[in-house]
Amino acid sequence: MVNEQAYALGTKRSCIRELFEYGRMRAAIVGADKVYDYSLGNPSIPAPKEVNETIAALLQDTDSLALHGYTSAVGDLATRQAIADDLNARYDAGVNAADLFITCGAAPGLCAVFGALAVPGGEILAIAPYFPEYRPFVESAGLTFKAVTPDVPDFQIRLDALAEAITENTQAIIVNSPNNPAGTVYSRQTLTALGALLTEKSKEFGHPIYIISDEPYRELAYDGTEVPFIPTIYKNTIVCYSYSKSLSLPGERIGYVYVPQQADDAKALLPAVAGAARSMGHVCAPSMWQKLIARCTHLRPDLESYDINRRTLYEGLVKAGYRVAKPDGAFYLFVEAPGGDAKAFSEKAKEKDLLIVPGDDFGCPGYFRLCYCVSLRQITESLPLFAELI
Ligand code: PLP
Repeated sequence: MVNEQAYALGTKRSCIRELFEYGRMRAAIVGADKVYDYSLGNPSIPAPKEVNETIAALLQDTDSLALHGYTSAVGDLATRQAIADDLNARYDAGVNAADLFITCGAAPGLCAVFGALAVPGGEILAIAPYFPEYRPFVESAGLTFKAVTPDVPDFQIRLDALAEAITENTQAIIVNSPNNPAGTVYSRQTLTALGALLTEKSKEFGHPIYIISDEPYRELAYDGTEVPFIPTIYKNTIVCYSYSKSLSLPGERIGYVYVPQQADDAKALLPAVAGAARSMGHVCAPSMWQKLIARCTHLRPDLESYDINRRTLYEGLVKAGYRVAKPDGAFYLFVEAPGGDAKAFSEKAKEKDLLIVPGDDFGCPGYFRLCYCVSLRQITESLPLFAELI
C-alpha cells in the first residue's frame, strides 16, 4: 500500500512540467529552434563569473574534510554572518546570524515554515496569482490552503478580499514579490497597508498572523523599482529566500529562512522551523554551496538581457493587442487570454509550437504566463505567432 496523496503528487505532473516535456518531444521532431517554449522559469543568464572563481578557490584553499563534511543543521556560522551583514548593509534590518536557517532553496524553506506553523485547523492564505506549489506544500503540512481573489488588472493586493478571507484560524499569508507569475512588485504603500491590516486582525484574533515572504526574485527588479524588505515594514514576517534565480543556481539548492528576533514567538519559531526541517530529513544545506554563499551573497545579477527580453516581449504583445500586467520584476509576463479561456488558448498556441502556461493553476483562470528567461531570438521569432493567434 502506498500513501494516496503522495502517489497523486508523484504521478500527476504539473501543467508546467507537462508543457516542458511536450516541448522536448516536439523539439526532437521539428528541431529545438522551432519550439517557442515559455513554460519553465529556469534562469537564462549564467551565474556571475565570481561564482565559478569561488568554487575553484574553495577547492584550492579549503580543507577537503571541512569543505565536504556535514555542517551544523542551521548552517555554517560564517555563511549566516555574511548573509546578516549583507541584509543589514542593504536594509538596515537588524538581522543576526542566529536568526537565519540555511536551507536547500526556497521550496524546502517554505515547507519547513509551513511545518512550523502547522497547528490543528490552521489556514495559510495565498494571494492569487500564486506559485502553484504552495498548495501541495501547505496541504502536506496538514494545513488548509486558501486563495485570495486577485486584484486585476494590476495584481497588487485586494485588501478588502484579504480582510474577508482572514479567520481566527489564519496562521499566515504568503507574499511573493516580485511575483511569479505576474511579474508585479508590491509597492511600499501596498505592503504598509497590508501590515496595518494584519496588525489589526492579529489583535482581533489574539494571535500573530504572519507574512511568509517568499522572495527568490528579490533582486530581479527593473527600472529602479523598489522591492521593500518586508520585515522592516511588518515585524511578524518570515522570509524564505533562495539563490536559485538571483545567482542563477537553481540546481544547486541553496537559500535560507530568516525569522526576525522582534517577531512574536521568535524564540519558538526558529527552533520549530529547524524541527520541521528535521522531520523532513534536512541534515544541512550543501556544505560547499554554503561556503560559496559566505563569499558571494553580496553579488547581484546582471539583469540586462532579462530587461531587453521583458521590454521586447511586453511591447510586442501590447502592440499586437494583448492586455498584460506591467512587469516590474522577476522574469514572467501574465497576459489576459484572448477569448477568456486560457486552457483553450494554450492548446491553440501549441499548434504553433508556442508553449504558454494557462493561469488556472496559479489561481487566475483567463490569463496565461510567459517565462521570458529565454533567448531574444525566441521572442522576436515568436511575436508574429502571437499576433496571428489574437
Ligand atoms: N517560490 C517561487 C515563487 C518560485 O517561483 C520558485 C521557483 O520557481 C520557488 C519558490 C522555489 O525556489 P527554489 O528553487 O529556491 O526552491
